[in-house]
Amino acid sequence: MLRTWLLAAILGSTAVAGSAADVAIVHAKVYPAPGARPLADATVLIHDGRIAAVARHVSLPRGTTVLRCDGCVVMAGFWNAHVHFIEPRWQGVATQDPGTLERQLRDMLERAGFTSVVDTGSDPGVTMALRRRIEQGEVAGPHIRTAGLPLYPEHALPYYLDDLPPALRDALPQPASPGEARAAVEKNLAGGADITKLFTGSIVKPDQIQPMRADIAAAAVAASHRHGALVFSHATNLAGLDVALRSGVDVLAHAPELVDGIDAARVREMARRHVAIIPTLKLFSRDAAIADIRRLVLEAHRAGVPLVFGTDTGFQTDYDISEEFRQLSLAGLGVDDILAMLTTTPAALFRLDAHAGRVARGNDGDLTILGSDPATAGVGAFSDVRYAIRGGRVLFDAARDGGAARPE
Ligand SMILES: [Zn+2]
Repeated sequence: MLRTWLLAAILGSTAVAGSAADVAIVHAKVYPAPGARPLADATVLIHDGRIAAVARHVSLPRGTTVLRCDGCVVMAGFWNAHVHFIEPRWQGVATQDPGTLERQLRDMLERAGFTSVVDTGSDPGVTMALRRRIEQGEVAGPHIRTAGLPLYPEHALPYYLDDLPPALRDALPQPASPGEARAAVEKNLAGGADITKLFTGSIVKPDQIQPMRADIAAAAVAASHRHGALVFSHATNLAGLDVALRSGVDVLAHAPELVDGIDAARVREMARRHVAIIPTLKLFSRDAAIADIRRLVLEAHRAGVPLVFGTDTGFQTDYDISEEFRQLSLAGLGVDDILAMLTTTPAALFRLDAHAGRVARGNDGDLTILGSDPATAGVGAFSDVRYAIRGGRVLFDAARDGGAARPE
């Protein structure tokens, strides 16, 4: 009793019971949320997976692991809302040893700061097994939400899936009627999917886009929404966008790649319907029309369309995402806009904003810690990741695991 009292007196009233899971970052610059004033020389303490304190002076419980981080910048854990687990390395995920999986997850995601990801379409057997091992605590990894298998227009798989194993290709849902669309959605969600992904504009040849039938898309959206599941769309062009808008899709998984005919009225409709866009600009950075795509993204942002960060990592096998930040900056988005894309906007999209997306007492202990401040060093600093932390567990430590991929 006395010892406990003495300890409390010494540590101060903000002290919480110590545990092996306590982790703290001290003397850091902390961005509580986009647009909020940063705290200088602050301490963030994570206890039992949650943020227990964010303040100038915090008494650390005995046994707290203090992460070395001079001049570090602390932000809420980053989201990447467009990834895939489709590379050959994920085959056998159910039996691969934890160390191998952790290394792969680090290289693909956590090295870039991601503590939450959305898989917008992969073999569900792979993603579900990976997620199960992470959630059971056997493998350290990010939060994963998944679309399971995407839905495609009938007889209209994208040409870039030609190389898929035939068994997987044959399993891809191509509903021919609203009833088949409902059944495909129900099957996905029953199998553990969190969202639905629709190819409302499927690129069947490099110069040919096949839109999904509007009644089929609408049935898929209605079935998803009945279960509270968001619907993401690969729209590609004006026709694919119009199917997405008419059917009530929630998120465009890419900015439209072909912007012809997408006028101010369409942008206003996206804003009115609160349809979010994941720009994936690095993916389009070699397109002749990249400047037009960037202009559309900025126009949408100014009209009030929510923007969410995503890169199509996994389909893109080059994991360095500094080009995405460069493109967003070229589009005219500022540091606070990009931080919102990485944190508060995806948290709100998934209705997690009561406890995620901000560095605030009581929130999830998910942090992305940078070695420099994008507000002063430029957006390249978003790629200068020192730590990625999920629920107080350090997923990536640059000093331990090797530095983040840096822009040239
Ligand atoms: Zn994708």
